[in-house]
Amino acid sequence: MTVIRIGFALALAMIASACDGAGGAMMDSAALIEGTGVTATVSERADGRFDVDYVFAAPQTAMIFSRSTGDYRVGAWEVAGEGARLERLNGFDTLVFDAPASQVSLVAEPRFVNPEGDYSPFVDFSDGGLALFTGQFDLMPVADADAAAALEGRLDRWRGEQPVLGVRVRSDRRMVFEGAVREGAIEDVSLGGGSFVYLGDGEIVEGRSYIGVIDRGLPDWVLASIDRDMEAIFALYETRWQRPLDERAVLYFAFGGYDNPGFSNKGGVSGSVIMLDTSGEAMREESPRLRNYLNWFFAHEVAHQFQNASGARNGDTADSWIHEGGANTMANALVAGMTEEPGAYIDTAYAQAWTNCLPALQDGPLRGAGARGYFGAYYDCGSLVSLIAAAGAPDGDIYAIWQAMQSAALDMDEPVSADLFFAAMSGLGADADLVRPLRRIVIEGVVDPAGELRAAMAMTPLSPEFDEAGQLTGFGAQN
Ligand SMILES: [Zn+2]
Repeated sequence: MTVIRIGFALALAMIASACDGAGGAMMDSAALIEGTGVTATVSERADGRFDVDYVFAAPQTAMIFSRSTGDYRVGAWEVAGEGARLERLNGFDTLVFDAPASQVSLVAEPRFVNPEGDYSPFVDFSDGGLALFTGQFDLMPVADADAAAALEGRLDRWRGEQPVLGVRVRSDRRMVFEGAVREGAIEDVSLGGGSFVYLGDGEIVEGRSYIGVIDRGLPDWVLASIDRDMEAIFALYETRWQRPLDERAVLYFAFGGYDNPGFSNKGGVSGSVIMLDTSGEAMREESPRLRNYLNWFFAHEVAHQFQNASGARNGDTADSWIHEGGANTMANALVAGMTEEPGAYIDTAYAQAWTNCLPALQDGPLRGAGARGYFGAYYDCGSLVSLIAAAGAPDGDIYAIWQAMQSAALDMDEPVSADLFFAAMSGLGADADLVRPLRRIVIEGVVDPAGELRAAMAMTPLSPEFDEAGQLTGFGAQN
């Protein structure tokens, strides 16, 4: 049997993360966490490095790190003692044992890298705090160094039964894990997943649906508004979705300092954890634009948390436009309402979406656009479709469409799909003449996407406005 479940997507709703905080009796030892094939006990040392003590359920001859992008271990992690070596073999960081081994110990120095397409293994906060991603400790057995090298860095070539990973993190510092402040040790169990654990004294802000760890080194103008803005974002979603989150979202807001020019931002979502790592010279000056951007990022990710709260299954990746477009449309309206000029904010957001979306629709339908190289279309075209659908459904809004779609999915024991999206829209009073062109845009593809979108908008109360070149500039009647 081959089970490989590695959730690599950034800002994607469809990440599977099976974490459970098994509390317990074994906390103080470095023993195997029950039910795992590989347990890493990760203990913070006084020198800023970590002791990483592995125990395996069965003796191993060699193990690859399933998350090896970024090449940050060799040179920073050292095997403690004899009988094993750490090498990089054709793209995989690999532990090779002289004789079958049931345990190995390493000392790891955190490297703050941003691997392409994967989570940062360690994220540093300018106030001395640190978040570590437990998924970086995932190991998969191979026969030997040659077998590791033969994979050529490709996880899909690996064959075997993936061991369940247990990670026990121990620190004298305060920790935040799974929406709660912890002392001493935490345990995370996952299969191809992982979670962020925070260690440090960062400022903690809490609401009914979230707990946030905020870098105290962030500029004052961000710190002055972040608490209020987070509260507002969650409160608005609780109202619109008519429910709080069952499992609190965990927000980590790290600041990398002012050293690099401009503004840089890396965000990621893993299960209920939202990570934002931002830095740059532009952060020095108070900027409504940057504040809107940060709020928009959080609002988009938090929309996913609420989308996922119903228990309805996510559909095919080809239909990611439902989640990403929905999250964009929700975030646009929500952040617009937090600005001084909501109309202008909305106009700019959808004018940009229009520009970005059209090339993808000229190439084919929205469904599957990502596989054709237009992954951004799920966000841009998806937000336009969501906006039109909501405006064209007189008995509801985007939240009502989502709720109807998800309750139908649960009733029918089916994943969320384009069919259920359009059925929900119809159920909320949308005209069949509006549903039809949207279905064509999504499923079949259209020859004249600008014309079709424009015609669809004209059937709603949106009152779209265009310039002479046919570019959407905004909406006459804001809703
Ligand atoms: Zn998203």
